[in-house]
Parts: sequence; structure tokens; C-alpha cells
Amino acid sequence: MDTVIVARKSSTKSLIESCLKVYKHELKLENSRYKLIVFTERGMASRDGFRGSVFKLGPKVIGMVLDTALEMEKLIITIAHEMVHVKQYAKGQMTHPNGGRSRLWHGKKIRAEYYDCPWEIEAFSKERVLANKVFKIIDKVYTGIDKTKKQKNGKK
Ligand SMILES: [Zn+2]
Repeated sequence: MDTVIVARKSSTKSLIESCLKVYKHELKLENSRYKLIVFTERGMASRDGFRGSVFKLGPKVIGMVLDTALEMEKLIITIAHEMVHVKQYAKGQMTHPNGGRSRLWHGKKIRAEYYDCPWEIEAFSKERVLANKVFKIIDKVYTGIDKTKKQKNGKK
């Protein structure tokens, strides 16, 4: 999955880039023919009440917008959440028939409250698991302790 990240600060850009690399791998999106364009905006969460959003930009182009004013931990989790939505589009689980506004989940129209929508249930259930992969890498960089190895060897 080719990706373009539009961010002013290079540190923000490389954080997003690193997260996407891990999440693409975990969600098996590396070979997807879809293109992803990531936009950044500061203060979206406090102004509009959402930390991120994913939308179709074209038949094979997906857009993501992230609130980069979020603290790092929240941003990493938000990117994970939004990447699950990217996966839902890229794997055809979520579709917009004829490019219209209405969306179908596995071919069905769903009427539900935000937290009851199946695509949100999936995104919320996976965001922590995905983000923890990134937190482990950050831990390793800062402490020199490889927790991935420690857990593998330690628990059984
Ligand atoms: Zn969501």
C-alpha cells in the first residue's frame, strides 16, 4: 500500500510513518493496491470531537485525517483505530456502492448508533492490540529492553 503523508513537522511525519509500517504489516495491507493519503490537522478533537477519520477519495484511494495536536500515546492509538478502517475499505468489507454516500458493511446496509456499528466495534477492539506493538518498539528504543523477547521467553 503506497502512502503519502502530508505533515508540516518532520518528527510528526516520521512517527506516523513508523506506526503505519507496523499496522500495515499487522493488518496484512503491505501488498494492497490501494493508495493511502494521510492528512494532518491540529485541534480537530477539541473543535469537532473526533481524533481522526477515514474516507474514500477515489476508487482505489483512501484518505485519512489525524489530529496531530493529540499527545503521542493517543495519536498512536488513533492511527491504529483509523488503520482498521483503512483495512475495511482496502479489503472490501466497507463499500460505497456507485461511489455514493451510503455505505455497506459486507454488502449490507447497517443502521446503528456509533458504538454499535460493526466497523467501530472492530476498530475499537483492535486499536489497543495494534498500538501495543508500537509501544513495545518505543520501549525498546528508550530502555534497551526488548519486551517482545522477554514475554515470549518469560511466560511459558
Ligand atoms: Zn472509528
